[in-house]
Amino acid sequence: MSAPHSNKISIQQIDLDATKHRIHPRFVTGLYQNIRLVSMYFFLALFLLLPWLRYDGRQAIWFDVPSQHYYIFGMTFLTQDFYFIAAFALIAAFTLFMVTVYAGRVWCGYACPQTIWTHLYQHVEKWVIGDRNKRIKFDKSPMGPTKAFKRGLVYFIWLALSVITAATFVSYVAGTDQIYQSWQMIEHIPIPDWPTWIWVSMFIFTFATYANAGYMREQMCIQICPYGRFQSVMFDKDTLIVSYDYERGEPRGTRKKGTHPEDLGDCIECQMCVQVCPTGIDIRDGLQVGCIQCAACIDACNEVMDKVGYKRGLIRYTTERQLAEKENTRVFSKRLFAYLALLLVLCGGLIYALTDRVPLEIDIRRDRNQLSSLNTQGMIENSYVVKLTNKTQDEHTYKITLAPKDGLSLQLRFNDVPLDAGESFDMAVSIYGDPAIIDEGQTPVTLNVISEDGQYKVSKDNVFTTQGQ
Ligand code: SF4
Ligand code: SF4
Repeated sequence: MSAPHSNKISIQQIDLDATKHRIHPRFVTGLYQNIRLVSMYFFLALFLLLPWLRYDGRQAIWFDVPSQHYYIFGMTFLTQDFYFIAAFALIAAFTLFMVTVYAGRVWCGYACPQTIWTHLYQHVEKWVIGDRNKRIKFDKSPMGPTKAFKRGLVYFIWLALSVITAATFVSYVAGTDQIYQSWQMIEHIPIPDWPTWIWVSMFIFTFATYANAGYMREQMCIQICPYGRFQSVMFDKDTLIVSYDYERGEPRGTRKKGTHPEDLGDCIECQMCVQVCPTGIDIRDGLQVGCIQCAACIDACNEVMDKVGYKRGLIRYTTERQLAEKENTRVFSKRLFAYLALLLVLCGGLIYALTDRVPLEIDIRRDRNQLSSLNTQGMIENSYVVKLTNKTQDEHTYKITLAPKDGLSLQLRFNDVPLDAGESFDMAVSIYGDPAIIDEGQTPVTLNVISEDGQYKVSKDNVFTTQGQ
């Protein structure tokens, strides 16, 4: 058998239905599991609590899809501001690429929702049924009243967690007010008074959470997750990966505590690294697509090494360059600087665009039916529809004016346009041109909008035409 040092990932062929060969990992404690628990429960708490956070009297993060207004900490975005979301997604993607190149699949092991929820659901099984051996025995035991009760209790808690997850997801879109008020109404009617789309979303998210965390579990990471598949192209010899020290560990074999036969390596073949693995793989076979880099095998093996009196680190975070080529890992590479430069440009651009952004939008559409007309006073009239959107969190009154130009004047239905926070308003406006003064053909015009306190100003150009009467 050759040393499996290469960072080329092998792909396991496992049945997609995880319930047929349910994996019952042994729960282990240790440095990495402590870090993992802190990270996982931090992200879990963040997900559950963020929709309840208020800012300026409104839900701080609220993607109000039905009204196409998206509120993020006092900033209001509309569908046409989608490029901010695209920029943010790009930054997140490049950050993930950079982290993956240097730290491997830390996202998978420490922060991925699939990992967090699977861990949570497995804890429920542990709490109701018991540790790994009890759970394996429980699965094999015939169905009886106790088994039915415990299985039912596990399913019930899973369902409750799925409903809470779905309600949280949906409250990012529907708003906590709508979800919470509807739940309050349970006191008066048997079911919440939600519109159909909320019911459909609740069902989809409940089902997806239950199926992913309760049933598909590691199969999601191994068979479906695209990130798990394409990560191998991002790995290089300096990527930090969980590895088994093949040279130190082999040939593996059992022995009595404290003894260390010369013809055996440090691996005592205790199988603890396999038993704690949430995806059921054996890290000693080399890097595999099923390895989510949770480091449970490191903690388990370190515990074993402590017990038998060997040095820790038979399984450890290391790089291929260090492990196989016995060289120092090269952290600073052209690739790192390229990623950093790209991220710097993207973050700088996004911050500049956000700080420079005026939370007021004006859009001008010309009357499509007629380019221009002649009124009874002999003036040429051009008609437009001006759409104003107040993207602030407060009510404002806006004034529209025409940038001064000889021979042109503006006529409005209202001098002041009061708009609530996030409100849009379409208003018909006309520009009149004196044919004795203005040039034939097209004349550039500019409409200015200013808030009553002078804080927000925007302008938009269009043209005034003498043609088409
Ligand atoms: S936990 Fe360590 S000693 Fe035990 S089988 Fe795994 S690698 Fe070998
Ligand atoms: S092999 Fe180790 S690091 Fe990889 S998933 Fe299994 S326990 Fe986690």
